[in-house]
Amino acid sequence: GKLLEIKNLSASVEDKNILKNINLTVNAGEIHVLMGPNGAGKSTLMNVIMEHPKYTVTEGQIIFDGEDITDSRTDERAKKGIFMSFQNPEEIQGVDVEEFLKEALNSQGKDYGSSLKFHKELVKKMDSLKIDNSYAQRYVNVGFSGGEKKKNEMLQMSILNPKLALLDETDSGLDVDAVKIVSEAIKDFFDETKAIIIITHHKEILKNVKADYVHVLKDGELIRTSDATLIDKIEENGYENISNL
Ligand code: ADP
Ligand code: MG
Ligand code: MG
Repeated sequence: GKLLEIKNLSASVEDKNILKNINLTVNAGEIHVLMGPNGAGKSTLMNVIMEHPKYTVTEGQIIFDGEDITDSRTDERAKKGIFMSFQNPEEIQGVDVEEFLKEALNSQGKDYGSSLKFHKELVKKMDSLKIDNSYAQRYVNVGFSGGEKKKNEMLQMSILNPKLALLDETDSGLDVDAVKIVSEAIKDFFDETKAIIIITHHKEILKNVKADYVHVLKDGELIRTSDATLIDKIEENGYENISNL
């Protein structure tokens, strides 16, 4: 069924209108790719879905899992099952990865059982992401490389197990091996009860993760929706003549 419905959504940041009348429906079991030139508003759209305080909805609605969440807080949205992996993950001084994840689960009302059981599960997931186990006791993202931060985002996703994952350039700045590991993590996470919206400039990550739809955002407008074949056309021709592709 319908998981996310965005209706006539306009949004601004710092009093600048960015998103213009966006309409988008995402069903469970679907993977949507969001493409478009730099500054088009892709990250803005994800931030608005997650309710980042800097972004203001000026018009329209966001419906998630049958409920109007347009006015609900970020933590409420997270609790309902929306997760966002950030383009530039933030460092959190003083909170280690393991504590952070337990706290996140707690705040979503999810019981992780005993600390020992949780630790075992965490180590298993870290192994599959090829994150050294010692990182469980390191402060979140502090001193992590770009690739390690992105893998840590995937660890969060896998532990929190959201219904809708918003992945903002999760593959950017990763070496070939890391892209493979990350795309496998996304594949492991995904099933017919979930949906993913992924912003990417590369098709590498889509080898493991098959896109159902590709949307192109330009100047804050969704100007094109197609199937995965559009990605190759964009790689070849760029965004200039996108409406003719
Ligand atoms: P994309 O992710 O497609 O590259 P963004 O959504 O990051 O684009 O940005 C869209 C526009 O909104 C850009 O002009 C950008 O400068 C502006 N913008 C985004 N976030 C902020 C912010 N926090 N403060 C000021 N301007 C912003
Ligand atoms: Mg962006
Ligand atoms: Mg707000």
